[in-house]
Order: sequence, then C-alpha cells, then structure tokens
Amino acid sequence: MGLEAVHLEAHTVRVRGLVQGVGFRPHVWRLARTLGLVGSVANDGDGVAIKLWAAQPMLMEFIARLTIEAPPLARIDAIETVATTGTAPPDFTILASHASAPRTAIVPDAATCPACRAELFDPADRRFGYAFGNCTHCGPRLSIIRAIPYDRANTAMAPFAMCEACFAEYTNPADRRFHAQPTACRDCGPRLWFEGGAGLELGSNPLDAAARMLHAGGIVAIKGIGGFHLACNALSDAAVALLRKRKARDAKPFALMAGSLAEVRRFSDVSAEAAALLASPAAPIVLLPLRDGGDALPDSVAPGQDHVGFMLPYAPLHHLLLARMDGPLVMTSANHADEPQVIANAESRVGLVDLADGWLMHERDIVNRLDDSVMALARCGPVIIRRARGYAPAPIRLHADFAGLPPVLAMGGELKASFCMARDGEAVVSQHIGDLEDAAALGDYRRMLALYRDLFDFTPAVVAVDAHADYLSSQTGAALARECGARLVRVAHHHAHFAACLADAGLGIAAADGTLGLILDGLGLGTDGTLWGGELLAGGYGGARRVGGIVALPLPGGAAAMKQPWRNLVAHLRGAFGEGWQARAGAVAQHLPTAEKLNVIERMIDTGTNCPPCSSAGRLFDAVAAALGFYPQSIGHEAQAAMALEACARSFVTEAGAYPAQMDAGVVSWAPLWGALLEDLAARTPSGVIAARFHNGFVSALVGLVVAQAEPGMRVVLSGGVMQNRILLDGMVRGLQQAGLRPVWHAQVPANDGGLSLGQAVLGAVMANRDLN
Ligand SMILES: [Zn+2]
Ligand SMILES: [Zn+2]
Repeated sequence: MGLEAVHLEAHTVRVRGLVQGVGFRPHVWRLARTLGLVGSVANDGDGVAIKLWAAQPMLMEFIARLTIEAPPLARIDAIETVATTGTAPPDFTILASHASAPRTAIVPDAATCPACRAELFDPADRRFGYAFGNCTHCGPRLSIIRAIPYDRANTAMAPFAMCEACFAEYTNPADRRFHAQPTACRDCGPRLWFEGGAGLELGSNPLDAAARMLHAGGIVAIKGIGGFHLACNALSDAAVALLRKRKARDAKPFALMAGSLAEVRRFSDVSAEAAALLASPAAPIVLLPLRDGGDALPDSVAPGQDHVGFMLPYAPLHHLLLARMDGPLVMTSANHADEPQVIANAESRVGLVDLADGWLMHERDIVNRLDDSVMALARCGPVIIRRARGYAPAPIRLHADFAGLPPVLAMGGELKASFCMARDGEAVVSQHIGDLEDAAALGDYRRMLALYRDLFDFTPAVVAVDAHADYLSSQTGAALARECGARLVRVAHHHAHFAACLADAGLGIAAADGTLGLILDGLGLGTDGTLWGGELLAGGYGGARRVGGIVALPLPGGAAAMKQPWRNLVAHLRGAFGEGWQARAGAVAQHLPTAEKLNVIERMIDTGTNCPPCSSAGRLFDAVAAALGFYPQSIGHEAQAAMALEACARSFVTEAGAYPAQMDAGVVSWAPLWGALLEDLAARTPSGVIAARFHNGFVSALVGLVVAQAEPGMRVVLSGGVMQNRILLDGMVRGLQQAGLRPVWHAQVPANDGGLSLGQAVLGAVMANRDLN
C-alpha cells in the first residue's frame, strides 16, 4: 500500500450545474468508495468540489461514471479537473458545508421516484401505503421552503421531528435518503385525513373514503404538492358536468390524472417523446391527441378540443388514490374563476365549500403555490405552455456572452406573470404566478420575489420592466429599483419576446445580430405608442426595429374587444370592405348583435372613440372564430377562441388549401382572406375546412412577409402567445426552412407573456452593460 500510494496523483475535480440538493455528494462518495479512492467532496459557491487521489486510468473511470451514474435530478453542465498537491487522507469523506459557504441550491419539486413508488406498494416496507414518503431523488422542494438555508427547520417539515429510523437513513451517505430534508414515515411524518362538510373527519381510511366519494360521482378537494385540486371521476359525464357547473366554467378544458401510461393510452396517442415527458421528474400536464378508436371521454372534459391534458401521479398520495380508481380523475386547480389555486387547509374549507363534497387533506403546509406545468408537442418538438411545478426554479443556462454582465431582476408582464433573476450566465425564471390584477396573485408575486432573492442571495444592479408603466409588475419594479439603488430600465414588450426566444435558444450577443423576429400575440404596447401584436422586427439583443407586420385595425371598445370576439369581427369586416361591409356579411350576420349595437360600434370606429389601432394576430383569430359562430356572446379567457379554431382546423390542415392575403410594403392585410372566407360560408363549407384554410393562409402570408425582408440563411425568431398554436408554429417552421431560413422557437420558457421576464432580463443586462462601456 505504502509503495502504491507514491504513484497516486492528487486532483481537484470541479462539477458545475444543478449538483446541490440532489444527492450529488453521496453519489460521489459511493463512487469513490466503489473504486477504492481516497479524498473528499464538498459543496461550494461553484457547485461541487472533489479532491481525489487516483492514478490516471482510475480518474478517467471516476469522471465517466460521475456523469453516467449521476442522480436523477442532477444536471451536469461542466466537469473540470486540475492537478493539485497534498497528502492523501486514509479514506473518502463528505465534508460539511462551511458556514460561510453559499446556500445549497433549491431544486424543483420532483415526482415520486421509482424506488419510492415501489416502497409505497410493498407490504413488507415500512412506508407501505404512506402518503408522504420521498427521498433525495424525489419529493417536494420549492413548494415547502420558507427561508434559507434549505434544511428541514426552514421548510414545512419543521414540525415533524424525525424518528430514529428516518434519522438513521438521513445521516447515512449510503442511503437514498441521505440529507433528504422532507423525508418522513408513518411514525414521524404528516398525517392524511378525509373531511366531509363542516370540517368533520370521516372514515378510518381517508384514501378509501375519498375513493368512495369519487366513485359515487362526488367532487373531492385534494391537497397536493403546489396547491389543492378539485377531482372527480373523469369517466362520469354527470360528475364532470357537476364540476363545470359548480366552477361556473363552460369550456376551458380540464386536465386529467391517470394512474399509469397504459391508462393514458386507453384514450390518447402517446408518442415516445410524450411518454418521456409524462414520466419525467417534472411530471407536467401534457396535451395529447385523443386516439381514434380509443376509449371515449365525456365531451364535457374538454369541449371542442381534439387534445386532452394528461398527467401522471406525482406524489405518493396521488399514486395511492389512483390505485383505488378504475380510470382517470379530472384534476383541476381548486379555485374560483381567475383566482389563484387554494393552498391552505382553512382557506380550502371556506373557499371551496360550494365546490367540493369532501376534502382529502394533510398536515404538511404548502408554503409556495405552484400550478401544474403544461407542455405540448409540436412537430418541431416539445413546447412549454405553463412553466411552474417541476421546472421552477431550475436555472436556464444562457450563452457565455452573458457570464460577465451585471445582475438583473426582470419583472415580467401583467398576465401570466413571472419574474427572472439573471446573473453569471444563468437565468432563474420564477414559476408562473398568474394575472397580477388579482390581489392574491399580486401578493404571491411579491412574496415569491422576496423568497427567490433570499434563496439565491440576489441583489440586482439593474431592474428591467415592461415599457407599459401601468403594469403592476412595472410599478413593483420601479419601487424595488429605488429601494435597492438599482438602475431601472424599460423594455419594449415585443423586443422582450424577441430576446426571450433568442436567450431560450442559447444564442449569444454577436450571433443574434441581424435576426428577424416574428412576434405574434394578443396585445402589447409598441414602440410607437400603438398596440402591437403582429410585428416583424429586425435586430438582436442590442435593439430591434419594426420592418413589417399585420395591418392595424381599430380595437372597438379596447378591453371589451378582448372578451367579445364579434367586436373584432366588425373591425375586420369593415377594414376589409369599408363602410358597405354589412352588405357583404351574408351568413356572418347571424353571429352579430343587433343593428343598434352595431351602429354604436360603427360610430366608435368612425370617431376613433375608444378604438385604439391594433395589429394583433390574436384579435384576427377572435374575428375568424366569431365569423364561424364560436362564442357569440363572450369568451372566458384570452386564447379561447384561438384554441377552439386550432382544434377545429387540425385534421383538415394538410388537405384544405389556403386563403389568400395581401401584402403592400411589408404590411399584411386580410381583405382577400375575408372575401374567400365569406364565399366558403355562403357555400356551407364545413367549419373545420374554413378554419384550416384560415390557418394555412395566415402561415403563408406571414412566411411571405418574412421572406420578403430576409437575406439568405437568416435566423427568424418565432415568439408571442399566438406561437403556442401548434399548427402555426409547425407551419412557420416548415415554411421558413423551405425558404432557406433558420427559424428559432421557444423550448424552455413559454412563447407567451410567461416568458417575457427572461427577455427583459437579458435585454436589461445588455443595455446596462452597453451604457457602462
Ligand atoms: Zn424517492
Ligand atoms: Zn420516520
């Protein structure tokens, strides 16, 4: 031994990425012991630092297995090895973090891992049937943390003192539960119970009681990881209809939770990519196509949709409950209308009293509200529609160009709000928080800001806000900048979308120059003070100018036009055919309100009263939906008409052909499209075909607009909420590629306003840096 030791060289191996709080140190410890190596491992400010005495071949094996056998929640971005000196210790040890060392990173909440799931259903295991088991590879994280540092005392697990058996696992580096802060068992962890109305506890087995109520067609409020759900038997038309009635929600699709992939396949086509997403630790809702010849779901689950959102159980509680059902459950956020999801027991008893028949709840507090994340699969890859549980707060890596820029806090938009902290070449984007006009969501937004700043020890040098100074996020940001003495920068809405997509795709500052950006969304304040929503920009991170877009038309009644699609139909028909439009309206007339109401709208348009000009792609979709008679009165949420149009078009898109559009000097207008659409309506062409021709016409017009401005091989960013329409995204990607251009689209943050904060952050950094130099 003594002689051999002479040949061992000392090395420092540094691992960067998501390697703290995911069981990485015990992984290193076990690997070193397996290979008979001596040294030590510790967390530090840059990740994990390993000191190792090993001959070269053994070092190579160690590094290879470090990656291959990494714990499931780890993400290794880089491994660097340098030679060092020192005397070899007698064995390999895990060093405790120094008091001065930076905080252990918080990782996203992770779905029950296979090992914990196996224990749950193993009668010989001490956690058999226990609803709160977890380990280093799974369990709640962001949802339970109150303060830093991340240890049990600062989480919702503080009241539950570990029993001897749990403590032994927790302190044993060879155990899967080594330093798993939320670890628990039946003897020491949270308790589950079932309540009927008025807080009355029912039944000796809460899971059996809840399952009985669900089987009987009742609605059960279930406390989960990031909030309460309202659940009912998804196969019972009556139960789903009852839930819709109580929630006063007519059309917005419900998400489902199925016990297994096999069960999802009963109803939907599940590609390999979709299966991997469903079964991933993030366990998002995945929008899946309903399967031809598959088992039927009641229409009321997702009226008018050809896709349904499915997720798999992601907490032991869900596994145990689904094992008692014969089919999927509707699992929808427990809330009223547009309010955030309920998270507290007391709040649920009061707030859900008119919604639920029973409550399955427990003693572990949900500290931080986290909605279920939503993913969809376009032909060009997975797209994220809502980024929350399972994804936040994992940092997004930016291009190396951003490594040296000042720390920026970006405040996001007003709807689908998120904020973003960018520093050291990484961006931490908060979970989707919701619409800040809702007081509870605004409260959450402010609380999350304070928590994230603590968790990541973040002091901004720059605060970036939307140019729209009235946004509550902009106001909060302005106040915060004053408070921390940070510089406030205002970022144009559509430039932020543009930059979010560039950053999402990992593009550097120089590489992004000379990019085109097609930004299609509902509404945002343009740089000329008008409302934008269908713009072609040219530029990069340093700036972008508008080089073309969709024709601007009046938005009759401003905000009212967001709720009532027919107002946009009037604006579009008048825009296409002028004052005589009513003579051309034909079959569309039946979907318009009374002559009296129309006269009012016309007068408003004539006089420009409360009719701001607006180039929104979203409002064009509303107008077409209105022409087809969708939503004659009003819509419940902004994208509803567009979603219905997309679903109705999907199966006709390949064959249907395209409506023509018109382009003059970089502006696309729609008179030919409306002419052809009205003819189709008069000929009683099916709605699906009309919707498909509209989608195809829209794609071809916009691709034409881009191509007219592009030089060969140019990058073209596709962003804005309308890009979440997969027919459009796939169509644009294909059309631009065929034209020899390089489309760039979103993958890590949503194309809608949920991704805005990432764009603001990188723009804030670039602007501040440019002004310094
Ligand atoms: Zn586990
Ligand atoms: Zn225990």
